[in-house]
Amino acid sequence: MKKINVVIYGATGSIGRSTLSIISKNLDKINIEGITCNKNILKLLKIAKSYNVKKIGFNEKTINNFNKFNLNKYEVFNDGGKFYSIISKKTDVIIFAASGLSSLDLLLKILKSGKIVGLANKECIITLGKKFISLSRKFKTKIIPLDSEHNSIYHLLSQNLGKYKSITITATGGPFLYYKKNKLRSVTPQQAIRHPVWNMGSKISIDSATMMNKALEIIEAKYLFNLKNNQINAIIHPQAIIHALINYENGISTAVLNKPDMRIPISSLFFGFNKYSNAYRGIELNNYYNFEFMPIDKNKFPAVELGYQVMKVGGLAPHIFNYLNEILVNLFIKKRIKFLDIVKLNEVNMDRFFGKNSNIANPKLNDIKNINNWIDNNLYLGN
Ligand code: NDP
Ligand code: MG
Repeated sequence: MKKINVVIYGATGSIGRSTLSIISKNLDKINIEGITCNKNILKLLKIAKSYNVKKIGFNEKTINNFNKFNLNKYEVFNDGGKFYSIISKKTDVIIFAASGLSSLDLLLKILKSGKIVGLANKECIITLGKKFISLSRKFKTKIIPLDSEHNSIYHLLSQNLGKYKSITITATGGPFLYYKKNKLRSVTPQQAIRHPVWNMGSKISIDSATMMNKALEIIEAKYLFNLKNNQINAIIHPQAIIHALINYENGISTAVLNKPDMRIPISSLFFGFNKYSNAYRGIELNNYYNFEFMPIDKNKFPAVELGYQVMKVGGLAPHIFNYLNEILVNLFIKKRIKFLDIVKLNEVNMDRFFGKNSNIANPKLNDIKNINNWIDNNLYLGN
């Protein structure tokens, strides 16, 4: 049987780790053609050695003296601009799990590749907006979302059960679900990164703590599945067993129940929904007498409401929201702003932007780059 050839962008991260865990049990079926990282070159080389990977990529600008590493055995792509060349004619599947917006140009090329893409990175989807789906359709690139909620939606909608009214995604509520708002004023990056259910990279973990992650995921769902604004909503479900629910016009709802384990959505990419290669322990409802669902507290977690507003404004707003969040999360990690400022300053800076600039309904990539410059030069962090 021909092996599935895979390229993994962001192999050294949390999604990368889950992907490798699946591949390690399926070495007779999957071959890793290439892997990339940003600066974690030692980890990358370790993966390359274990999985006999020939092509590696990293960002040379972020690594001091990378020539000291013995790279003779590899074909090296040592600059983000060259990452796309790792993909070859024989590539079957691309895992796009590099974090943040810095890989936007790469994703734009991948959307034109006509390959199968397992897409974890939500930031790039939000910034590309409507262009995302139109490009992938035009070039027949098959996108399989890996974000657990969106992966559930993808499989549920593939069942073609008729007309649906709306889609609900769930949120665990993050590490601060039961904190009083007052206590949130002084939480540290270390506390925010410690997620109760998922083990993820630091940026997405902090997004979960502010619930910005859910705001971004609502917008992600809109663009991935071409939804109207009133067709997508979110609620809290701390057990994280139901990730998304489709509400049909006939009053029926469907959901997939599975443990919170990113290997499940990722393995559906390789083996299809019905053919997971590994037997994950299923759900015994006996162990879940306490399934809970609750509304999101808008006062404690204003990010989600802000996300809805941003989605309604459309145009540049989702990108600005997303871009500002990336900057503000970084400032929080560096302890330059407080936890509650992440969302507050996002709103303030967005208002300042729209006070001085008009919206653009269908922004081009150049518009996005100009806006980033404007934000970089005008960022307001309070007095
Ligand atoms: P991590 O921070 O754990 O990993 C990020 C990966 O991207 C690393 O391999 C990192 O390399 C690489 N990377 C970072 N910046 C760059 C860059 N400028 N150029 C090239 N590579 C880069 O993140 P996660 O794995 O948690 O998340 C990855 C993406 O998937 C995010 O967009 C996130 O929102 C999304 N996602 C993650 C989920 C999860 O469970 N983790 C769930 C749903 C979505 P290096 O190690 O060298 O820094
Ligand atoms: Mg998610």
